[in-house]
Amino acid sequence: MPRLGQDLSTYLREAVMPTVWCPGCGHGNIAAAITTAMKNLELDLDKSVLVGGIGCSGRTPFYFNTNAMHTTHGRALAFATGIKMTNPSLTVLVTMGDGDALAIGGNHFIHAARRNIDLTAIIYNNSTYGMTGGQAAPTTPIGSFSTTSPLGTTDPAFDTVELALAAGASFVARGTTYDFLELPQLIAKAVQHPGFAMVEVLTQCPTYYGRMNKIGDATAMLGWERDTTEPLTQFEHLPREVVVGKRPIGIFREEIRSEYSRAYHERLTGGGSHV
Ligand code: SF4
Repeated sequence: MPRLGQDLSTYLREAVMPTVWCPGCGHGNIAAAITTAMKNLELDLDKSVLVGGIGCSGRTPFYFNTNAMHTTHGRALAFATGIKMTNPSLTVLVTMGDGDALAIGGNHFIHAARRNIDLTAIIYNNSTYGMTGGQAAPTTPIGSFSTTSPLGTTDPAFDTVELALAAGASFVARGTTYDFLELPQLIAKAVQHPGFAMVEVLTQCPTYYGRMNKIGDATAMLGWERDTTEPLTQFEHLPREVVVGKRPIGIFREEIRSEYSRAYHERLTGGGSHV
């Protein structure tokens, strides 16, 4: 079992470092968690693919020493679907921002979940559009300030977990960059799950969301993540006044059902019905 501080360089393209991410950005934490998960699972780099969308999170595949694809805004899951359908033996991870996955990419998200195609969708939820300058996203909490809501947004935010559950995703989880030691395990479980797996990671954007909402620097934002979440195992047992306004974290669904790429190929070869 790899431990903190151990060499993960096999999985990373150090020649293209440093990353484009701002100092203190949580995206580096998520990339580290993905790297650790890949190492823990001993993923074959030649049989793994990382697909990214557009935005700060979409840069993640650049830094991995595996097959990588940087796609168009909101379409990462569509490209990933094509890859998986062409070669179901590949392990395909998809990194998307909250705006990328749930605004322009919202349709791809719900239909990938509905089909239960074996992809691991990691949604970096920093409550804003970071790369384009801090605009409000579908996950921006109501009342929050952004460059497009200088008086505070009036839009209710999507709950990514509820959306994934309603759309039929067979593995649904939420973690945070504060819970850094648990995150690789959560991602590893998602990768191992034989179906559509969604992991939402609450992460910090100190450059825009933290500054505009006066939460503070990256360290303060990690504290904010800690204070606004509660493990699912405790969430249901705590008094309402303790959990109001907080989000549960953990695994919400883990169920096995017919996987799309395998069912499709079996149907093509006359291998039977998966109705
Ligand atoms: Fe991270 Fe925000 Fe900087 Fe983008 S703008 S790299 S999300 S801190």
